[in-house]
Amino acid sequence: MAEILVLVDHVDGDVRKTTTEMLTIARGVGEPSAVFLGSGYDAAASTLGRFGAAKVYVVDTPELDEYVVAPKAEALATVAAAAEPAAVLIPSSPEGKEIAGRLAVKLGAGLITDAVDVTAGDDGLTTTQAVFAGGYTVQSAVTHGTPIITVKANSATPEPAEVTPVAEPVEVTISEQARKARIVERQPRAATGRPELTEASVVVSGGRGTGGDFGPVEELADALGGAVGASRAAVDSGWYPHAYQVGQTGSTVSPQLYVAAGISGAIQHRAGMQTSKTIVVVNKDAEAPIFAMADFGVVGDLHTVLPQATAEITKRRS
Ligand code: FAD
Repeated sequence: MAEILVLVDHVDGDVRKTTTEMLTIARGVGEPSAVFLGSGYDAAASTLGRFGAAKVYVVDTPELDEYVVAPKAEALATVAAAAEPAAVLIPSSPEGKEIAGRLAVKLGAGLITDAVDVTAGDDGLTTTQAVFAGGYTVQSAVTHGTPIITVKANSATPEPAEVTPVAEPVEVTISEQARKARIVERQPRAATGRPELTEASVVVSGGRGTGGDFGPVEELADALGGAVGASRAAVDSGWYPHAYQVGQTGSTVSPQLYVAAGISGAIQHRAGMQTSKTIVVVNKDAEAPIFAMADFGVVGDLHTVLPQATAEITKRRS
């Protein structure tokens, strides 16, 4: 079977769900091998094995942590050039897309971003993308070189396929060229105790209608054990960090429950949450477009409705 490289998305060996989703997609079209860049492989091995990565290329050189993205692209290019895989799958995160772009240039290969699926046919691999804010679904294929494909989070349900991974250490010499932008300081994001936005089964999002007060949104999220999201209007207003933006230019989420509070439902916001299983809307304007996609809607002021919901949920859970 054709080898498919999957770039592992991890923090110090803590493997993120995007990786297990990509391994699942890769198994559908070939034999997945993971590429682990940086330190912490021992912590990651069992998760990679559980989701079918029989082989793991491990590159652990200090430059990967010391410099901004370029060394990662070089390391992945070294692995890909030697392995000659049928495709390389990379997470559709900002960093992943930058690695993918650099990799495509280095390999002289075609690149497809934001795929939600990859299938194999007589003519090679075909990707599916949701474009124009989810308004159209298109199929594309790379026609030149090794397909480099970035895969959106929540594109597949991770399915275990236990194997014992074999680590293959790869020596990489990072060029002077890739050591131009050094990381001088790191500040860990303040721990919220909430689940990761793209991995949460419950997301409560606030928009311009919060007026900048995310307290009721956070309290409902905490009562439900969920993550907090935000519309771009709220993020652009400086009310919530950009990392929490849901939508076309933010994160794509697909939770079991999505609560949209004070959000009108612009197409760019819908693009990031429309595959949520159950959508609950709280908006004081009964004509707000987002009600069209609601499974359950409340017309009212979120500052009144959300605290009532939080109180009732807390009461029933205690
Ligand atoms: P508004 O559209 O202003 O809606 C606010 C809503 O709150 C209204 O429906 C109002 O009735 C309701 N409301 C007001 N007060 C209350 C209250 N007290 N209680 C209850 N309801 C209340 N947007 C994103 O979200 N994510 C993206 O990734 C994104 N990407 C974009 C990319 C591009 C290229 C462009 C051009 C735009 C993008 N946008 C994105 C912006 C998008 O077009 C909208 O401007 C944005 O989603 C609006 O945010 P909002 O719904 O919070 O604000």
